[in-house]
Amino acid sequence: SVRVRYAPSPTGLQHIGGIRTALFNYFFARSSGGSFILRIEDTDRERYHDEALEDLFETLRWLGIEWDEGPEKGGDYGPYIQSERHDLYQEYTKKLIESGHAYYCFCSSERLETLRQEQQKSKASRVGYDGHCRSIPLEEAKQRIAAGEHPVVRFKVPSEGKTSFDDVLLGKVTRKNRDIPPDPVILKSDGFPTYHLANVVDDHLMKITHILRAQEWIPSGALHVLLYRAFGWEPPVYCHLPMVMGKDGQKLSKRHGATAVREFRKAGYLPEALINYVSLIGWSYDGEREFFTKEELEKLFSLEKINKAPGVFDYRKLEWFNGQYIRRMDDTKLVERMLPFLEKADLVSDPPEASQMELVKQMVPLVKERMKFIPDAGDICRFAFEEPSGYTAEELIAKKMDAASTVIAMEAGRTIIEAMKRADDDVVEEMFREKSEELGFKLGQMLSPLRVAITGSTVSPPLFGSIRLIGIDKALDRIDRGIE
Ligand code: GLU
Repeated sequence: SVRVRYAPSPTGLQHIGGIRTALFNYFFARSSGGSFILRIEDTDRERYHDEALEDLFETLRWLGIEWDEGPEKGGDYGPYIQSERHDLYQEYTKKLIESGHAYYCFCSSERLETLRQEQQKSKASRVGYDGHCRSIPLEEAKQRIAAGEHPVVRFKVPSEGKTSFDDVLLGKVTRKNRDIPPDPVILKSDGFPTYHLANVVDDHLMKITHILRAQEWIPSGALHVLLYRAFGWEPPVYCHLPMVMGKDGQKLSKRHGATAVREFRKAGYLPEALINYVSLIGWSYDGEREFFTKEELEKLFSLEKINKAPGVFDYRKLEWFNGQYIRRMDDTKLVERMLPFLEKADLVSDPPEASQMELVKQMVPLVKERMKFIPDAGDICRFAFEEPSGYTAEELIAKKMDAASTVIAMEAGRTIIEAMKRADDDVVEEMFREKSEELGFKLGQMLSPLRVAITGSTVSPPLFGSIRLIGIDKALDRIDRGIE
């Protein structure tokens, strides 16, 4: 059965591209009844950060991505943190040395530096290690180690021929062996493995069937296949995922805006919206449908529907998705999510009083239509709890209006709002239309000052609903105060 993994290196915060990889692996595992494995590739100790690891767990939990095997959870193929698997890498490196696929290298960093400079100067067509230590007999190497030297271990990359692998998405990917940087280090002198070795050994030992990862790993693919062959193993199925671009067609980066998931979380994005939108970067169900809950994606996701073309990450579209998810959210759940922000804005007490709760419940259907982010709840709901006071005289005056015409519009509007005591909202709306035409105003010019006087803001939930919520008399008082 399918076994896939997300194998991040804890060197930075989880970003959009990373969680896209995580989600595709997770959904593929779920939709095919397989297992999703989390593995921490922390062999690069120089770039390792504790914070990155915490951020990884936090982010996956926030998104609700549960791993079947991995750190904290365990599983039959652990440990799942590479720094806890050192003995294995030693053991497998020895196998490659014994079979003649790898060798000890004693070259000093000075020699390597000189080599690099020479290759640069002569514009050598093949750069990388020159194979100097390939010829040292194994017995001699072992004696030197016994005498206290600390060599690295290098993998022999052939200079002739080519290496291919099949990619689900891209078909056959072939690389000339001479284009693979020769003889990469697989085990460092301190005994730490490098990414390539640890990655291949672990994917094999953890019985990974499919590798879904970013396209930036394509160049490593051929080297990995050579490693699998040297071990006498069958490589997994590869599927390199389409790039994630900004709207300008460049690889998504900080230049475009936030990329760390943590920042989106802090800005008030819902995990549901982020999951849905990120899943559409490079994947589509039928080219049309856009809304998918996590549960639906767990059933519907398939590798066949991944696109070859790069996916674009559009911040505005994500924002739109977020608003959509707020509208689709069940009222009780939305109340729950809004409450902490209403508490923070000092609008309700903690825990809320029964009367406050009642008001929040009544507000939800109204504000739901307008809210883009739940942390905005305080601003949007304030008018129902407090008298608006923050607005200026200028804010009352709509576009192309002056103080005098604003007063005329407000007085006419006041009369109609009073009629709301007897008339339905659609009748009231019609009355507003007729009156504004009669006075030579646009409907918006007439409603805008009323909105500001009643809610304190030019953007508010639907006006008539807001008036009914606070009560018509209270609304009339607020208009009177605005007119003064
Ligand atoms: N540790 C690698 C990374 O950070 C994993 C690449 C792979 O999936 O093979 O992306």
